[in-house]
Amino acid sequence: MKVLIVYAHPEARSLNGSLKDFMVERLSQSGHEVRVSDLYAMQWKAPLAADDFAHIEPGSHFDPVIDSQRAFEAGTQPDDIAAEQAKLLWADAVLFQFPLWWFSMPAILKGWVERVYAHGFAYGVGEHSDTRWGKRYGEGVMAGKRAMLVVTTGGWASHYAPRGINGPMDDLLFPIHHGILHYPGFDVLPPFVVHRTGKVDAAAYARITADLGQRLDALWTIAPIPFRQQNAGDYEIPALTLRPDIAPERTGFAAHVAG
Ligand code: FAD
Repeated sequence: MKVLIVYAHPEARSLNGSLKDFMVERLSQSGHEVRVSDLYAMQWKAPLAADDFAHIEPGSHFDPVIDSQRAFEAGTQPDDIAAEQAKLLWADAVLFQFPLWWFSMPAILKGWVERVYAHGFAYGVGEHSDTRWGKRYGEGVMAGKRAMLVVTTGGWASHYAPRGINGPMDDLLFPIHHGILHYPGFDVLPPFVVHRTGKVDAAAYARITADLGQRLDALWTIAPIPFRQQNAGDYEIPALTLRPDIAPERTGFAAHVAG
């Protein structure tokens, strides 16, 4: 299988750097082809801005959606964006690895998503009309591919428990899992989270890599998070709210997970 690791940490000798090297080695030893997008090493340009698009006349109005689509369709996107899109199409599974910074991904990785997920590629796909909202949330260009987050946090596991002060980890990661990964069609696996990184020493590192190795071995068999599909009948059209008879007791993020 082909695995792409999109990795965002500025220091190669960090815990994240070690875990990234561990993942490359483990996956390669298991016979998988592995590619890494090391965003800081690549000096990835984060801002989605007019300078990405050669077709925009100086001084003319920049529309991030329309101009992104125009460049995608015309094949005039910057080389760095087109290269990352090609890697995504190549991969059977994509691992996104990063330290939790301010309860989300580092800005460089968010910028990768904003620029690589062009209109017409990752969104704005399929029929859009008064009754149809395209192929998304379970359908789209990434359908059939798996995705998993590998995340480290300074906070303790209890801080991210269902009643923990930081909010439940499933809720914090929902915008990434559901909005960035399920949206273009990925099967989203439960995240691999390392907590309390300040206490990681050699013994803890050995335990973490043992667990991470097992998780990587199960990459193709572990059950994805059962996010509901937009176009499978659970949602009322065109409001796209859940049908009243489906999980009537649930609201918020959890309502969009079946079972
Ligand atoms: P490092 O600091 O590199 O390492 C952590 C420990 O692992 C160190 O003790 C190191 O010695 C040890 N280690 C590294 N490699 C090895 C190895 N090979 N073998 C054995 N031991 C090793 N945390 C939150 O919980 N929530 C937040 O919202 C949040 N926001 C943040 C925002 C910013 C801007 C920053 C800078 C930090 C934030 N943090 C937050 C903390 C952050 O999540 C952690 O600092 C990060 O996850 C640690 O990962 P690292 O790779 O940088 O670890």
